[in-house]
Amino acid sequence: MIEKKIQRNVTLAPFTTFKIGGPAAYFIEARTEDEIVEALKWAKHKHIPYFILGGGSNILIADKGFDGLVVKMRMNTYTVLKTNIIADAGVFLSTLVSASLKNSLTGLEWAGGVPGTIGGAVRGNAGAHGHSISELVKTVRVVRKGSVVDLENNNCRFSYRNSVFKRKNNNDIIVRVVLKLKKGNKQEIEKGITKHITYRNKTQPYQASCGCIFKNINFSAIDKTCLKKFPEMNEFKGYGQIPSGWLIDSCSLKRTKKGKVSISDIHANFIENSGSATAHDVRELIARAKLCVKQKFGIDLEEEIIYVGF
Ligand SMILES: Cc1cc2nc3c(=O)[nH]c(=O)nc-3n(C[C@H](O)[C@H](O)[C@H](O)COP(=O)(O)OP(=O)(O)OC[C@H]3O[C@@H](n4cnc5c(N)ncnc54)[C@H](O)[C@@H]3O)c2cc1C
Repeated sequence: MIEKKIQRNVTLAPFTTFKIGGPAAYFIEARTEDEIVEALKWAKHKHIPYFILGGGSNILIADKGFDGLVVKMRMNTYTVLKTNIIADAGVFLSTLVSASLKNSLTGLEWAGGVPGTIGGAVRGNAGAHGHSISELVKTVRVVRKGSVVDLENNNCRFSYRNSVFKRKNNNDIIVRVVLKLKKGNKQEIEKGITKHITYRNKTQPYQASCGCIFKNINFSAIDKTCLKKFPEMNEFKGYGQIPSGWLIDSCSLKRTKKGKVSISDIHANFIENSGSATAHDVRELIARAKLCVKQKFGIDLEEEIIYVGF
């Protein structure tokens, strides 16, 4: 009986990297595809919404929590078959980076230090240093309307921090991912992973956060008058994107505080939680950053993070 596995009134903050968020009315740790299917049937029967929780590293949960069922992905086994890694959606990306090293497989070095699960990474097409998970995805297994469906990479419609799974009416739950890597040199792979982690440690804050708040801005979307007014933006032309952190920093917002949260001094696209922060304060800082960037550059910042329970 799935009902027996469903807990009530579970505080969600500890399940997020931001350490912010109130309780879930109902909460289940799903270890099998069947448990997911049964849990969703249960929620449907009760006419309540559900939310799939991976590593909680790209979300902001409301202080009042989520008045529905949170399904925490606990399916977390993986196997390596030649150059393929077959991973359940709940496996942490860091585990797969270690597995790639152990098996001398190259391609995932850029993900060294990126938190979260492979399911969350595929949904948001996580990436760094010019790479993204979509380059490695061979197939994705989802639970769709109670059945299991296998999708090829080109069915996932990946683009920058986006995929078919993020579309408004898409309710697919990613349960398994097959990544295709290449045979490589173990020492080189290790060097690559260390390089990326070292860079991350230097350029990102240590305090609790949910990663980059906003997506970067496509360079080609910037209008000519803006580039004329701010010629320094042209330095990003080759990169193809204007970093949102740069825009926020240009508005002198680093270190701006609200309660226990502040815009990071190290990377302006991060908001840090220095203690018992509230989601309300985070939202206020986000609104402030959006307003300042709009007023100065005429650019609309778009959140990369997902809001839960607002
Ligand atoms: C310090 C720090 C650094 C970061 N650096 C990077 C970076 O360099 N690059 C980058 O891209 N991101 C980065 N992030 C953001 C985050 O790590 C990634 O977006 C990560 O892939 C999110 O995975 P998750 O499992 O934590 O997803 P969650 O935060 O749990 O969920 C995010 C969304 O995915 C959905 N979801 C999760 N699992 C599934 C599933 N199995 N099926 C369907 N939907 C699912 C959730 O419902 C939610 O809508 C960083 C975050 C932090 C805190």
